[in-house]
Amino acid sequence: MTTNTTDIKYLKGVGEKKAECFKKLGIDTVGALLRFFPRTYEDWSNPVKAYDCQMDSTVCIKAKIVTPITEQKVRANMTIYKFAISDGSGEVFVTIFNNKFLASRLHFGSEYLFYGKLTGGNWARQMSSPEISEVSSGGIRPIYRAVRGLPSKTIERIVKNALVANIGEDPIPEEIRAKHKLCDLRFAIENIHFPRSYDALKRARERLVFEELFIFQTAFMLIKERNKKETEYIITNNCKDEFLKQLPFSLTSAQNRVIDECLADMTNGRLMNRLVQGDVGSGKTAVAAALCFIAARNGYQAALMAPTEILAVQHYKTLSGLLEPLGISCGLLTGSTSKKEKKEISFTVSSGETSVLIGTHALLSDNVEFKNLALVITDEQHRFGVAQRARLSEKGQSVHTLVMSATPIPRTLGLVIYGDLDVSIIDEYPKGRQQIESFCVTGKLRQRVYNYIKKHLDEGRQGYIVCPLVEESETADIASAVEYCERLKTKDFKNYTVDILHGKQTAKQKDEVMGRFNKGELQLLVCTTVVEVGIDVPNATIMVIENAERFGLSQLHQLRGRIGRGEHKSSCILISDIEDGKTKERLDVIKNNTDGFKIADEDLRLRGPGDFLGNRQHGLPRFNIADIYSDLSVLKTAGDEARNLISNNFNLNDDKYKALRLEIAELYKKL
Ligand code: ADP
Ligand code: MG
Repeated sequence: MTTNTTDIKYLKGVGEKKAECFKKLGIDTVGALLRFFPRTYEDWSNPVKAYDCQMDSTVCIKAKIVTPITEQKVRANMTIYKFAISDGSGEVFVTIFNNKFLASRLHFGSEYLFYGKLTGGNWARQMSSPEISEVSSGGIRPIYRAVRGLPSKTIERIVKNALVANIGEDPIPEEIRAKHKLCDLRFAIENIHFPRSYDALKRARERLVFEELFIFQTAFMLIKERNKKETEYIITNNCKDEFLKQLPFSLTSAQNRVIDECLADMTNGRLMNRLVQGDVGSGKTAVAAALCFIAARNGYQAALMAPTEILAVQHYKTLSGLLEPLGISCGLLTGSTSKKEKKEISFTVSSGETSVLIGTHALLSDNVEFKNLALVITDEQHRFGVAQRARLSEKGQSVHTLVMSATPIPRTLGLVIYGDLDVSIIDEYPKGRQQIESFCVTGKLRQRVYNYIKKHLDEGRQGYIVCPLVEESETADIASAVEYCERLKTKDFKNYTVDILHGKQTAKQKDEVMGRFNKGELQLLVCTTVVEVGIDVPNATIMVIENAERFGLSQLHQLRGRIGRGEHKSSCILISDIEDGKTKERLDVIKNNTDGFKIADEDLRLRGPGDFLGNRQHGLPRFNIADIYSDLSVLKTAGDEARNLISNNFNLNDDKYKALRLEIAELYKKL
């Protein structure tokens, strides 16, 4: 933080104990406290008349205590205090429980603000345990996210003390602030905590949102600039057609366009830094294969990295099948490659004999010496965020990089998340793709669902059952999945071949299970979400997802993408016993849509960005105040300013950008 880094425990009203509580909220400095914004506000600025407002509404009234305060001990540890108040519209009876301290400070005949829920009838209104304040302390009051030992009220008091401290320099450059008429930092911080008016609150928020989105995007564009390097790895021989000729299908025009966009990058002497976004089944592998081929034909080496071994093996099979007939030698390197094989591959890679190396992400760190590696393609990058990309770029890898993501992200968010990359989108599916039929049912129909699976299996097809997520912990989920699988094996599916695939199996076990499933020896695969990524078994035509409501929509979409890959019609059944409207609406989105981008949009709309981004699948840090959904226009404006600034002041060297530079450095640390 460029803001005040004084330890919070030195602040008036905070001791060691409260400092501990603040830590739980992630606050350790005065600066961090000042940036701990209220989650909402209470309006004490507009007292209403008690008898003018709706019954059962929460209101603020300004009233005089018109009776003495009575104290009544009803039980050993329960004392209640009662009195009546009046604001001229009528009397309201107030009850306070067990709060001797509060009661002792109230005086018969004095006027206070009472904030709480009005109950009772039209002839006698009541307020039970209202909050009570001096008339002078009205206004719009902040409500903070509280933790045990640190109620919102206490935080409010401490923030008030903190506001006298140094709040640091403004990270938004003066000229940008002036251009967009943004208020200054002090005004913003003061008014986000203790708004002088709704207008002031609005201005404060606007500015803080701008600041957050501006810093974020500036940071990204810096990365992008840094990656704009010259390279000697230039593709001169565009031999795409040679590859296309022996491909068993013709590419979709989207695949073609994306390959051309990549080639344009690789022929111009600049390093490619591109993201390919394409829904499940849109055919990203063929794009990767084409580029590997072209790189190899041009005398370079290429590497393709997958997030799991299963996927690496699968890619190896696909790529070697396509490329070896063209005389391009492919190699596979994963965690379970034997020492001996590793040695051999390392040798052929360093000699240049192996042109395309496929493996898991360990591949690059595995001390493999390439002869002339020019292209690195990373598949299913959605699990890897901005952080990894930033780190990769810091390592100064001077090769063309292509990241392939299967998580469709609403386009608006893509702008932010991938601000450091050029983006290509495969927005078309190969022809003849089977539509998948989806259904939502409750657990009561489980037996019928099982029978339906059997029908598919009896016809020679294969299927998946995705296990319920029971808890936050992976270990517990796996234990329950194993139990579930045993039950199927010994009971419901005892006449079929069934096995399990989960995240805690060794690579060898996974390979073995996947191998049998690939060959059709296994009919039913029980699995945790490990199948989400890239498995391609065209004969699998049915998928059942238990506890479907626990999965994110994008995740469900990914899962479902494992079926509908062959010539046979496929079905997906979502089982959920939760019947509330929201759950139903979410599952209906899956039932009624097959386009990943559309689903992502709906997901964002239904869950709100907090949740959508909360699961961190997208590698985006949580925003403190900005809401990318409703602050979209600010996102764009701030982005334009960031771009503008970086293109004119690439290094932000000028002293006036010092505060901004520090914020960016801070952000990189958090990513
Ligand atoms: P993803 O984008 O999910 O990685 P894949 O690359 O695994 O998709 O492709 C899905 C399936 O579609 C594969 O079986 C692949 O062979 C096939 N495929 C890819 N492109 C085409 C195309 N242009 N025409 C027909 N089938 C294709
Ligand atoms: Mg794929």
